[in-house]
Amino acid sequence: MDLALAPADLAFRDEVRAFLSRSFTPQLRAATRRQSGVFAEKELNQRWQRILFERGWVAPSWPVEYGGTGWSVVQRYIFDTECAEAGTPALPAMGLQMCGPVLMRFGTPEQKAFFLPRILSGEHYWCQGYSEPGSGSDLASLQCRAVRDGDDYVITGTKIWTTHAQFANWMFALVRTRSEGKPQAGITFLVLPMESPGLSIRPIITLAGEHEVNQVFFDSVRVPVANRIGEENDGWTVAKYLLEFERGHAFAARIRAALRQVKMLAAAEASGSGVPLAEDDDFRRRLAEAEIAADAVDFTERRIISQLAAGGSTGDAAASMLKLKGTETLQTVTELALEAIAYYAAPDQRQALGLGANVPEIGPEHAITVSARYLNTRAATIYGGSSEVQRNILARLALGL
Ligand SMILES: Cc1cc2nc3c(=O)[nH]c(=O)nc-3n(C[C@H](O)[C@H](O)[C@H](O)COP(=O)(O)OP(=O)(O)OC[C@H]3O[C@@H](n4cnc5c(N)ncnc54)[C@H](O)[C@@H]3O)c2cc1C
Repeated sequence: MDLALAPADLAFRDEVRAFLSRSFTPQLRAATRRQSGVFAEKELNQRWQRILFERGWVAPSWPVEYGGTGWSVVQRYIFDTECAEAGTPALPAMGLQMCGPVLMRFGTPEQKAFFLPRILSGEHYWCQGYSEPGSGSDLASLQCRAVRDGDDYVITGTKIWTTHAQFANWMFALVRTRSEGKPQAGITFLVLPMESPGLSIRPIITLAGEHEVNQVFFDSVRVPVANRIGEENDGWTVAKYLLEFERGHAFAARIRAALRQVKMLAAAEASGSGVPLAEDDDFRRRLAEAEIAADAVDFTERRIISQLAAGGSTGDAAASMLKLKGTETLQTVTELALEAIAYYAAPDQRQALGLGANVPEIGPEHAITVSARYLNTRAATIYGGSSEVQRNILARLALGL
């Protein structure tokens, strides 16, 4: 296993750094620093997507023939890491990282030609219609029904926790097309425009006061059969393929960036006993523990990249371990940040956080996003497969079940 970067990779890293220092402008940096959601607000993420699109770097993992970069695994890792370190706006994963690869694998030539360029350019903004009330971890139990009627499917039911449905103009969804037999064998994967008659969206406001997720209702929504990806009742195969891309990556760089912020906060804020928090023994111990956990995530990530670069696969165990430890460490670091700003965690800063807000923040600038990020990060151990589900996967693998 070789964890060091080759000279060509170091040169590539410099090229990425030069691009970021040129294109991730001070104005964009300032706007992104105030973001607290999983993905940046639409206006901001679209601005950044356009910049990457024009540079040809918007889809690092896509093959060149579909408009991707053709980069090696190591180059993709470097790019993700440099972007996370710089704190670039988080682009929504639903189109570029989820639906795109699915279309490449299962789409017809017409579907690929229509959708893929529009995912790259950002013209199509996607949301993911998988979860339902009562069907999250146990996704195969989903009930949202699609009944064939001539050249259409007619969908009735609901989806929940649909991230950015309020911004999306397209959704990919799992629907039930057969009730008999194994639940997995009666699911179909469809794509549909969000403006379809009969589709409505209800916002869900999170603990952080943010409108990031929604419930989507389908009241006899007609979707052409031509919008099916893969075969009828074979959507589970498509869904499982897509989930391979959902568990997340570049955790270490995000954790390191969050740790840097905690250190800055600890230097600026005082502990309960009046000394700077950075000199408080208990806080320093917990910070050191978080740094050790971050190092472990970093090495796991590098180990996976090294395996992939040598032609191997990530493997379920490593992917689950990374999702589990990556998100839990990120949560620990946001807890330290919250503790560091003490009573500045209390004010409701929602009005001051949005793009173009002209409401002054309460307290120092460095405290303004801390509460919202802390609250938002609670969800990281739920979406993309909860921590309990990841532990089950690891236990099953370890026990050989
Ligand atoms: C912020 C956010 C954004 C999301 N965005 C989307 C989206 O865009 N599209 C979409 O389709 N979905 C989305 N989701 C939904 C997400 O995928 C589900 O919340 C997740 O799969 C968990 O399902 P659930 O909420 O139904 O909880 P449940 O599955 O009911 O789980 C409840 C609790 O039970 C535990 N549990 C469940 N099964 C087991 C088991 N077998 N063993 C041990 N413990 C278990 C879970 O870990 C959890 O603690 C989002 C969720 C969040 C929080």
